[in-house]
Amino acid sequence: MSVRDFYKQKITVARVYGIPVRIDYRWFVVFALSVWLIASNLHTSPLEIGTMHLPPVARFTAWMLGVITTAGLFLSVFGHELSHALMARAEGIEIEEIILHPFGGLARLRSQPESPGAEFRIAIAGPAASFVFAVLAFVGAWFAVYQTAVTVFFLVGSGNLLLAIFNLFPGYPLDGGRVLRALLWRRTGDIVQATRMAGICGVLVAGTLITFGIYMAVAPSFHAYFMGLWSVLVGLFLLDAAVSVVRQSQSLRTAVVSDAMSPPFALEPDLLVSRFIDEVLPLHRQTAFPVASNGRLHGIISLQDLKSLPRETWRVKRARDVMRPIAPQMFVTQTTTLMHARELMQTNGVGSLAIVDQKGDLIGFLQSGTLRARKKRG
Ligand SMILES: [Zn+2]
Repeated sequence: MSVRDFYKQKITVARVYGIPVRIDYRWFVVFALSVWLIASNLHTSPLEIGTMHLPPVARFTAWMLGVITTAGLFLSVFGHELSHALMARAEGIEIEEIILHPFGGLARLRSQPESPGAEFRIAIAGPAASFVFAVLAFVGAWFAVYQTAVTVFFLVGSGNLLLAIFNLFPGYPLDGGRVLRALLWRRTGDIVQATRMAGICGVLVAGTLITFGIYMAVAPSFHAYFMGLWSVLVGLFLLDAAVSVVRQSQSLRTAVVSDAMSPPFALEPDLLVSRFIDEVLPLHRQTAFPVASNGRLHGIISLQDLKSLPRETWRVKRARDVMRPIAPQMFVTQTTTLMHARELMQTNGVGSLAIVDQKGDLIGFLQSGTLRARKKRG
């Protein structure tokens, strides 16, 4: 295992509401760096909060506060991601895991939100949680009696406020970019175009962060040097994600069916349903099958339709009795764009498409599940 692989290995640290929470070893490096930055600042310089003047604290106290504040900040990031995850679950989407990485976190969802409304609610849940945490922490700082408690509450509150505001920048894949994508998607009904636009805004936001970071880094104070470097790193991280989103949506726009179709595995029209269920289904994990004889498409069988078929009829019914007979929305040619194919699959009731050549012979098959990229969320 290379050093790089070692640092990228994921370890599961907790399970919350059944969702695995995972970190990699780089996280410890960032944790330590954050503790050191906070501790050294609290030890050497006073903290000004409005009209309040908090003098520098002793070395040991500074380190304790550094650890507590950093733990509070990471818990806040976790709370932000958990909020996305629970909202996604409320929208009926399964959660793969929550990852805390050096630049924050992400909740990985098993599938895409089905509507702009769902996308919007899931995206806004994270920053909303961060705003609430910020308000709670500032209230805590207001009522706290000891200087140490005021410091921790104030820093955690500021961190959450920053997290909320930063995540609302309107560039994909930030939450604000997802909100933008949801709004464009609702307006135009075109999710690919909306993703592309939000991705381009993401590239712009990343470029701004990098430029701003370089500017801060060349400014003479030590503190700004670190902030600048951090801004550049976050900018590069975002840029990478935004560029790949734009590329993906571009390729989806120009890609055609033959780029994605698989060779057809067709059922004979005379095949008994019982034999299909006992012999074919265990070997082919598909949710729909084309029915064809001698290369000629007759229709499509979907497992969804089979569910309503009484069990006692399985031994008498044949594929042709239970299939949906061929109709224009069930087949396309190999030069059809994937965009159009996707629309058809969403509405034709079988979630799949048969691909035919000029002569009308079956040459391929496409299922909607195979077009869905896994979704990441930051
Ligand atoms: Zn978020």
